[in-house]
Amino acid sequence: MKAWRIHDKEQLTLDELPIQSVGEGCAKIKTLVSGISLTDILMYRGQLVLRGAPMIIGRQCVGMVTEVGQDVTGLQRGDRVVIDPFVNCKNCTACNAGRSDECEKLICNGVDDNGFMSDFIVASSNALYKLPERIKDSDAVFTEHIALSINTVNKLNLEKGEHIVIVGANALGIILAQVAIYNQAVPILIDTDAENLAIAEELGIYYTINSVDSDPMKRIFTITGGKMAETVAFINMAQMAFGRSLDYAARGGRVAMVGWADVADEITGRFEAILNKQLKVIGVNNGVRMFPAAINLLATRTVDVSRLVRCEVPFSEVGEAVRAGAENDGRYMKTLVRF
Ligand SMILES: [Zn+2]
Repeated sequence: MKAWRIHDKEQLTLDELPIQSVGEGCAKIKTLVSGISLTDILMYRGQLVLRGAPMIIGRQCVGMVTEVGQDVTGLQRGDRVVIDPFVNCKNCTACNAGRSDECEKLICNGVDDNGFMSDFIVASSNALYKLPERIKDSDAVFTEHIALSINTVNKLNLEKGEHIVIVGANALGIILAQVAIYNQAVPILIDTDAENLAIAEELGIYYTINSVDSDPMKRIFTITGGKMAETVAFINMAQMAFGRSLDYAARGGRVAMVGWADVADEITGRFEAILNKQLKVIGVNNGVRMFPAAINLLATRTVDVSRLVRCEVPFSEVGEAVRAGAENDGRYMKTLVRF
């Protein structure tokens, strides 16, 4: 099999590896579509410490089952699946209490262990979720983003009719806004990128604020009738200011920092709003257990991700695309990889 492996900072190569056998409880997948993730780019830049090298990059995979282990039920050759990159330990206090998303030893494939940027993958059948026919491969790549968004809405206890200011209109921010609408909340999306905000508007997000040419405080004051927002979601790595985000929350408001674990900009600013307004601040870094719900939102077309792809590259050009991503400090929309 062929796989893109990172060996060290700026050393990403397409390697030929021995074919893996399909063990008990596992299935072999032929990859159809994958995505280049922020974590891939940060590892390439040397901003994310390598947990092992060489390591196959990639945390997203949509593929076709080509072989199943003897004891695997509910899956067969030809099934189209998406792989959940997270593996929980099933043994810590959080796992035993049914909170596997807070597992002490949570592993993410593509970050802590080999990922999915290879033509074939052998994965545990527990990590595989069948895709309904109506969901396109290129849309299913966003399942992890949707799962993380659902987890965020749940952890914020976002109620019907509440406002949620989302700071950062990258792919994750735009998806979170759509999930908020599904929950009958009112998203207010802020960014400095007019192009991304225009995409958000086309996808039905009514309140968008470009903080380059308007004052978010004034706009949010008006939109919320002077109350400010009950909830705020700060999208990590969207190149926005965390301290400023706290100002958008109402007294006693709930604030979530949302993003991938181990990936954070250095945060500077003033955080006295946490004390002054007695804000509740939480972190959400995965969508473990939310894959079935995320797939359902794609199948029902509740979440539209078709506009969130920046470009598509063939598998052979992943190295070049990651290099380009590493050099480009710009906004993050998804680069798809076709196999
Ligand atoms: Zn655990």
